Amino acid sequence: MITKICDAHVHLGKSGPWQPYADPTIYVDDLISLFDEYNVESAIVFPNPNVGDKYAQMNDYIAMSVRKYPKRLIGFGRVDPRREDAAEELGRIKNTLHLTGLKLHPMVECFRPDHPFFNKFFQTVDELCLPTLFHTGDGFSSPGLISKIAKKYPKLPIILGHLKEGALTVMGQFENVYVETSGTLPDFIELAIDIDEERVLFGSDIPYYRYPTQIAIVEASKITQKAKRKVFYENFKALCSKMK
Ligand SMILES: [Zn+2]
Repeated sequence: MITKICDAHVHLGKSGPWQPYADPTIYVDDLISLFDEYNVESAIVFPNPNVGDKYAQMNDYIAMSVRKYPKRLIGFGRVDPRREDAAEELGRIKNTLHLTGLKLHPMVECFRPDHPFFNKFFQTVDELCLPTLFHTGDGFSSPGLISKIAKKYPKLPIILGHLKEGALTVMGQFENVYVETSGTLPDFIELAIDIDEERVLFGSDIPYYRYPTQIAIVEASKITQKAKRKVFYENFKALCSKMK
């Protein structure tokens, strides 16, 4: 059994209008209690999905939470890349709020990552060194589109959320690409470990998924105990030391 966990995918704060079923609002003290219950030492946290100008306030809450629990939380901001002030908000995330990275959900924020309109945005992400976790799935969130960003900015760490077939292909092509396990299946974890056991990260997608199921997916994969320790803990620590 694994005793120490780090989590690469956690939402924190108020929910936006985009909520698939129950209200996903979770405040920081409750989140830390949940971490204590499941031996989660630290996690990457970012706002819930939203639209329009609300992300700025939500980013403020992430920064405040990181100040309260600096040893437990690594804060990522969220930005709607379609907004005219998107690059400014990236600067504020990094230089004023001192957040570490960025979360993007091309389906929720409704943008095609490889469209030339977003060149300036991604150039700024790269210049500010904001490691980016992308939701992956269908449509604008397809790993094939995100791979173009990974190729263009080879020094920028990119985490593909919700590991599936497409993410495996991209991970195999680019060394700056990590995969994260929330909502995946044990077989995909086995295949990702075969590609590179150093670039597979445990993720829960709290509060949309729950720890018992997300931990069980990794535990059920037929990989060595050493590889499980890497997925649950060591790879996250290694990535965090690169992000500082
Ligand atoms: Zn998520």
